[in-house]
Amino acid sequence: MKVHEYQAKQLLAEYGITVPRGGVATEATAAAKIAADLGGRVVVKAQVHAGGRGKAGGVKVVSSPAEAEEPARGMLGTRLVTHQTSADGVPVNAVLVEEALDVERELYLGIVIDGVDGRPVIMASEAGGMDIEEVARVSPEKILKGYVDPGIGVHAFRARGMAFDLNLDQAQRKQASDTVINLYKLFEAKDCSLAEINPLVVTKDGRVLAADAKLNFDDNAAFRHKDLQELRDTAQEDPLEVEAHGKGIENYIKLDGSVGCLVNGAGLAMAVLDLLKLAGGNAANFLDIGTINDSERVVRAIDIINSDPDVRAILINIFGGMARTDVIAEGIVAAHKQLKMKSPVVVRLAGTNVTAGDRILEESGLELIRAYSFREAAEKAVEAAKKSS
Ligand code: GDP
Ligand code: MN
Repeated sequence: MKVHEYQAKQLLAEYGITVPRGGVATEATAAAKIAADLGGRVVVKAQVHAGGRGKAGGVKVVSSPAEAEEPARGMLGTRLVTHQTSADGVPVNAVLVEEALDVERELYLGIVIDGVDGRPVIMASEAGGMDIEEVARVSPEKILKGYVDPGIGVHAFRARGMAFDLNLDQAQRKQASDTVINLYKLFEAKDCSLAEINPLVVTKDGRVLAADAKLNFDDNAAFRHKDLQELRDTAQEDPLEVEAHGKGIENYIKLDGSVGCLVNGAGLAMAVLDLLKLAGGNAANFLDIGTINDSERVVRAIDIINSDPDVRAILINIFGGMARTDVIAEGIVAAHKQLKMKSPVVVRLAGTNVTAGDRILEESGLELIRAYSFREAAEKAVEAAKKSS
């Protein structure tokens, strides 16, 4: 789960990290009021679940409070497109108005789980700011890395070492190493998958503050953090993914191809994506229905895939282990009765009760495209999608 910058900054502040003074507004007049209270130069920032706002016009620094209302009005109610969003962008329903900082240096500080190493890694760089992705690509040596043993956490001397390597003076080193330690505490306590401050600003008067903040939380730990759920903003998420979750279907992922996929099991889902590609196509989404024996759930799953406007053909590829393919077949038949199906449907069933499953489909008289091997299913789905495009 992602949260907005202003929400992330509140959490940072709770963990003792210094953030700029400011407030969040959903209307331009309210933004103007916050700016007036702050006084001086202010920065107006679009609140969206995506980075790259600075380069996309989502961050505006103005030289007096009176000038804050205009950019706030310009951002609110629009959709912001950045290099991290889809071409449609994401809606701007709130802006953060903050005191503008006199920036001397922009550093980078981030913590993620290193999937290969299987433990958290702290990354820091003197080359922070809007081009950090380019820095990581072109000169990765400019990014310092420190792996953390989760059983031990971050030793103070290691945080100080990192601050030394960022070429900070003594007073700033203390602030920066405290920031490293506190960010790690937050990362661990809230089960983050990402905690990032970019830029971590050093001001001309020597203060070290988080000018931007990004926190992502591991959904697998959501049950431990009921309080964080209140921070969720579904307006920023893909509408069909939100609908799927609301219907108790956790594993629906939107992609950008044209074949909608109903599968069971993450491994099978990945293999389906590969085979579609091999057959010259691409998935519009995949929905991992898991191990279920409830045909109504199959209908809900098909409904979601059928509602995706990018879908030109649906591929249902189920390997029944504990899930029974006859129940899946009943769900497919029920879906055709209850829903207005918009695309051709390719079905391949294998495993438990497959004879019964196949018979249910045959006797239904539905115009399904049947496939019996995995490859055949992928090829037929790609062909059907091309035909109906
Ligand atoms: P992002 O582009 O979505 O990562 O948005 P950021 O919050 O990082 O803002 C982009 C850039 O705005 C920063 O890298 C700074 O260079 C610039 N900026 C200039 N002055 C300020 C300021 O006072 N506060 C903040 N937050 N950013 C500023
Ligand atoms: Mn940033």
